[in-house]
Amino acid sequence: MTGRVLSIRGVGRRFVTDGTVPAALSGIDLSCPEGSFTALVGPSGCGKSTLLRLVAGLDHPDEGEIRFGNAGASWLTPDELRRKGALGMAFQDAALMPWRDVRANIALPLQVLRRDWRKDSQQIEALLALVGLEAMGGARPAQLSGGMRQRVALARALVTHPEILLLDEPFGALDFVLRREMVRELQRLWLESGATAVMVTHGIDEAVFLADRVVIMARGPGRIAAVVEADIPRPRPASFFLDPAFHALCDRVERLLADAS
Ligand code: ADP
Ligand code: MG
Repeated sequence: MTGRVLSIRGVGRRFVTDGTVPAALSGIDLSCPEGSFTALVGPSGCGKSTLLRLVAGLDHPDEGEIRFGNAGASWLTPDELRRKGALGMAFQDAALMPWRDVRANIALPLQVLRRDWRKDSQQIEALLALVGLEAMGGARPAQLSGGMRQRVALARALVTHPEILLLDEPFGALDFVLRREMVRELQRLWLESGATAVMVTHGIDEAVFLADRVVIMARGPGRIAAVVEADIPRPRPASFFLDPAFHALCDRVERLLADAS
């Protein structure tokens, strides 16, 4: 049996603004094999977040189709995946609920699925440990640093054991040193989860470090301009950031991004 695939076929999306209907996305074709890591880069406004929201089932395409499965099994739509807790999401502003403590924030997706998360308390503790916040379960988001909040958002994205992990500039608010640290942490969490990951980022270095494949998007309408494969064994050590192969890949992505912008 072949592995499953997240299949995005001929996807287009148009928003009506000022009576005009420019395409935010047009003709997006992308196949993400199960367990792969895809990074999306591109100038702002090229539809990266729109594409991620379509995959998350938070919005629906006007053209084309998004589904997850394989030829031998049934295909699931983003709505079906979301309803069964198979989608985990983390966005730029960690978007934690300020009145809930860290544990209750991580448990939120379980509550949305109407699971009794108190039965999963061991799993919440394991996730807290996984993201290095075992001592902070009872803290409120306001008591945490930006990096800690991002880690809570990651733990929350992983709490349902999602098959698909969607990250929209998850480290956008962090400084350089913290981002590098989080990128390595994310690699570890993602490898342990076995999830199929799609991450939007402005950081070419993050994209190359984490991804099997960097997808470069362009605007007007939002489309895929180029794809760079990063066929480097995992786990990639911190020293990969200093590797000539890493820099060569970053240069390629940067040049293609300049052409696309
Ligand atoms: P990116 O994440 O790459 O910066 P977005 O996906 O946020 O880009 O936006 C792509 C385009 O679609 C932009 O022109 C944006 O203004 C437009 N857009 C996104 N969401 C909406 C919406 N809900 N209504 C109208 N226009 C939207
Ligand atoms: Mg965006």
